[in-house]
Amino acid sequence: MNLTVIGTGYVGLVSGTCFAEMGNTVTCIDIDKDKIQKLTQGIIPIYEPGLETMVKRNYINKTLRFSTKLSEHLEKCVIVFIAVGTPMGDDGSADLQYVLQVAKEIGKSMTHSLIIVNKSTVPVGTADKVHAKIKEELDKRNLDISFDVVSNPEFLKEGDAINDFMKPDRVVIGSDSEEALEKMRALYSPFFRSSLDRLITMDVRSAEMTKYVANAMLATKISFMNEIANICELVGADVNKVRIGIGSDSRIGYSFIYPGSGYGGSCFPKDVKALKKTAQEHGYEARLITSVEDVNNAQKFVISNKVIKRFGEDLSGKIFSIWGLAFKPETDDMREAPAIYIIKELVNRGAKIQAYDPKAMKEAKHFYLKDLKGVSYFDSKYETLNNADAMILLTEWKEFRSPDFEELQKQLNQPIIFDGRNQYNHERLTKMGFEYYQIGRK
Ligand code: NAD
Repeated sequence: MNLTVIGTGYVGLVSGTCFAEMGNTVTCIDIDKDKIQKLTQGIIPIYEPGLETMVKRNYINKTLRFSTKLSEHLEKCVIVFIAVGTPMGDDGSADLQYVLQVAKEIGKSMTHSLIIVNKSTVPVGTADKVHAKIKEELDKRNLDISFDVVSNPEFLKEGDAINDFMKPDRVVIGSDSEEALEKMRALYSPFFRSSLDRLITMDVRSAEMTKYVANAMLATKISFMNEIANICELVGADVNKVRIGIGSDSRIGYSFIYPGSGYGGSCFPKDVKALKKTAQEHGYEARLITSVEDVNNAQKFVISNKVIKRFGEDLSGKIFSIWGLAFKPETDDMREAPAIYIIKELVNRGAKIQAYDPKAMKEAKHFYLKDLKGVSYFDSKYETLNNADAMILLTEWKEFRSPDFEELQKQLNQPIIFDGRNQYNHERLTKMGFEYYQIGRK
């Protein structure tokens, strides 16, 4: 099938590339000229395991193209995906300006019947808005072209996005048009080798809602466990043991119950907020969702509070080694990463930071911590330890899992570790002479 994907970010680039890998011909469109130019030169703007090879292979095979010109590519295509950002607006709702801008551009240039698929995460009712916007533009051109707006929320995880897309747990498609559903089934069926059970079809509004509910549910599990970790600390229990104790119950399960420094990234924070806002707009106060958010906001500071408790309110003259900046491993994404909040808190109290992350240092340097004085970046985790008063682990990258603790002991001013991701063995480290602070254990 001939496809166009509008918005070549984490979702657009991964989806477009995976569709191309399955034999479709895909054009990825973006308004960012620099990004498109780099992609045509084989430079991938994001870090995502396996993506670079796949992009290059399909680009060489001419099954994947990149362009800034939507109108040139709409002519030949059957399905258009909208995969632009829906960031958090000032009032907490999802900002739909990019989605509606794209709808306008589609309406301005479409010449034949199309299926327009919304892959961006959008509040219930957005498909209707997209439909109205396209119709408005077609009316201006005196054209009567039929088209369907389908909801196909994306569930990929950054860091494992290719895998998630190529072997999805499920694909949700919302549409009232049997013809559109038929084409979408045909497009996705190669991703389900044995059965199509995991291709779930429903009405558009339920599909739009499904994405928010999935993210809100996962965020709830995280905040719930973080709250339990804080209680464990107070009562002298060990949350690591409690986690294993409850995860073995199949009704609960082990996933998403790891205590840590709170959820971040481009999705959970904004989607939880947007769902709360949608409820409010309909006269409902979503108390549980509000609490999930409140717990998370506080959780980001649990580690910096431990540092302050240990070293005092004034951190002037103190140096901290930071391992990990990205909001989670295997990505360079730092949107809403706990590291941003923790580092700012420590620097504001006078501390100096020596940071290392395998992939996210460029993001930190040039964007998220750009104007923050007192932060320096190093090429390896061990270099950050020199003269530092403690090491603070904030992202659970594999290379941090089993470090040379003797090296840490040798280099740190004092052997102190603050672990924001509960990666290490408490008994082992205390036996070695470390002061080891975790989440959810005294
Ligand atoms: P992103 O910010 O990485 O990429 C969005 C891209 O859209 C940018 O490259 C931007 O230049 C481009 N764009 C904006 N306006 C445009 C226009 N008029 N025409 C063409 N391109 C335009 O965003 P993302 O992380 O890929 O997220 C996209 C959507 O998918 C969001 O709604 C997000 O919530 C959702 N989502 C994201 C993830 C994730 O893990 N990142 C997972 C599932 C769903």
